[in-house]
Amino acid sequence: MTGRHDDLLAMLPGIRRAEWRVPRRRVILPPRNVRDVETEDPLLDRDDMMRRLVRRETPFDLLIIGGGATGVGIAIDGASRGYGVALLEQADFGKGTSSRSTKLIHGGVRYLQQGNVPLVMEALKERGILRRNAPHLVRDLPFVVPNYQWWEAPFYGIGMRVYDALAGKYGFGESRNLSREDTIGRIPTIEQDGLRGGVIYHDGQFDDARLLLDMVVTAAEQGAIVVNQLAVTELRKGADGFVNGVHARDGETGESFELRAYAVINATGPFTDAVRRMDDPAAHTVMRPSQGVHLVLDRAFLPGDSAIMVPHTDDGRILFAIPWHDCVLVGTTDTPIAEATLEPVPHESEVAFLLEHAARYLTRDPTRADVRSVFAGIRPLVGAESGDETATLSREHTVLVSRSGLVTIAGGKWTTYRKMAEDAVDHAATLASLEPRPCVTRELNIHGFHPRADKFGPLAPYGADAPAVQALFAAHPHGSELLHARLPVRAGEVVWAVRHEMARTVDDVLARRTRALILDARAAIEAAPRVAAIMAQDLGRDEAWQRDQVDAFTTMAAAYVLL
Ligand SMILES: Cc1cc2nc3c(=O)[nH]c(=O)nc-3n(C[C@H](O)[C@H](O)[C@H](O)COP(=O)(O)OP(=O)(O)OC[C@H]3O[C@@H](n4cnc5c(N)ncnc54)[C@H](O)[C@@H]3O)c2cc1C
Repeated sequence: MTGRHDDLLAMLPGIRRAEWRVPRRRVILPPRNVRDVETEDPLLDRDDMMRRLVRRETPFDLLIIGGGATGVGIAIDGASRGYGVALLEQADFGKGTSSRSTKLIHGGVRYLQQGNVPLVMEALKERGILRRNAPHLVRDLPFVVPNYQWWEAPFYGIGMRVYDALAGKYGFGESRNLSREDTIGRIPTIEQDGLRGGVIYHDGQFDDARLLLDMVVTAAEQGAIVVNQLAVTELRKGADGFVNGVHARDGETGESFELRAYAVINATGPFTDAVRRMDDPAAHTVMRPSQGVHLVLDRAFLPGDSAIMVPHTDDGRILFAIPWHDCVLVGTTDTPIAEATLEPVPHESEVAFLLEHAARYLTRDPTRADVRSVFAGIRPLVGAESGDETATLSREHTVLVSRSGLVTIAGGKWTTYRKMAEDAVDHAATLASLEPRPCVTRELNIHGFHPRADKFGPLAPYGADAPAVQALFAAHPHGSELLHARLPVRAGEVVWAVRHEMARTVDDVLARRTRALILDARAAIEAAPRVAAIMAQDLGRDEAWQRDQVDAFTTMAAAYVLL
């Protein structure tokens, strides 16, 4: 894995050593018993986190900027080693790219095509580790590569067997060639005109925002302070010119304050360069952001349990059609963009590309009217030279250390977040002269761990928390009521999200604590007033707050509706 280091350690003036503390015992969380929803402490409590943050008298060992997969992974890693960790997220956990992925925990067939074997092997290994540590959220998904040309069966058949071999002991199911009949049996809606057969292989699938939430809880359980709606506005430097903390602004109160730290880690994904320029206004650009769009269709377009993978579209992209919850995700595109924003907007050309290609492989051609939701995300790709094609830019991660000691980690993928975190903490601990402590996350279960979560039915994504969520439904007067006839979301989930998962806005609940916004954007907009009312009761907010929330959500969510 790439790891650039500016020989900075040699230049460090004196040694800054973190205070000594007893290493936190490695905790392998057992499946939990039902929580007592009336009496137990919340899983996450923003007010409590804020109190602990501002009252801290000594510098944090690690202060992380950014609450996506990368930053939260670092918070888990650092806290489970016993370091004092704080993580600040300007909006909500996963508001950036980490809730907008294709939802695959995969080695990356694309990188195999590019011949990047080390990256594929590392990702396949991480895939296996993650399925072991979060079995309630990572599942095996069969993919079918449909064959329309004579050479595709041997070519992709061999390619997928190489993929299996690279996974070694971390393998999922075995790949094999399928006859035309078996291909149609698995994908009844596959375009049959010219179909010769297919190749089946296996990869991992997950719910990105939900895994991230469970990771945030895991970080908190390990002792990290994690706060959303808290933006880093400036870096703080000592007389020696080294970064020794941040200035932060609370998005809820507008209050600003300073926090001190031995090491500050920039894990802001597509926003990497903005934070690097807080450190050095002349810092060169390392981010080459690229936008990817997904369409969400009704499940009738892809019944059955298998996904479709098209390895090579006209312009060399990979196209997926994937069953996910009760719908189908079709994606993705790869469009270089000039600047990162928190709500990237799909381009018309991307929508047209996806509809056109989906129609080529499905018997019924999807139209704009069939699209339940469309969402875009920004790949935080690290590029060296301008003019590189983003599809060929490396998905490997890069650790940079600036002359003033800001650690930046960028690039990579969701699948490799754990390894990225290990590398980032190793760099930061060396830089800040923290007492060396080994990484333990390979063996650390993610909160919600449950080996048989499927027995919880629709609440399976909550894993070991499912019985407690169910108990809350019963304890709340309207807990079991559906929020909307077209959404598989109950009113009690809103209460759970507010009480236990630090949901602060209607967007937090409808886009990430539940996946309503991407399952059906129109239905989510219609459900927003009800969500605002339920949240207001728990958070103690007035009607003006509810109106503002509904207006903000409706305006934002309009971009997810295809007219
Ligand atoms: C379309 C698409 C599909 C993908 N599919 C897959 C896939 O199937 N599998 C896979 O493994 N990978 C996939 N990826 C890649 C993966 O999603 C990303 O690599 C990963 O989510 C990046 O996480 P991150 O934490 O680095 O960035 P982000 O998730 O964007 O997090 C960065 C966070 O930093 C916060 N932030 C920024 N500035 C500040 C500040 N000043 N103060 C505080 N917080 C700040 C932002 O609000 C944001 O929440 C996909 C990516 C895209 C775009």
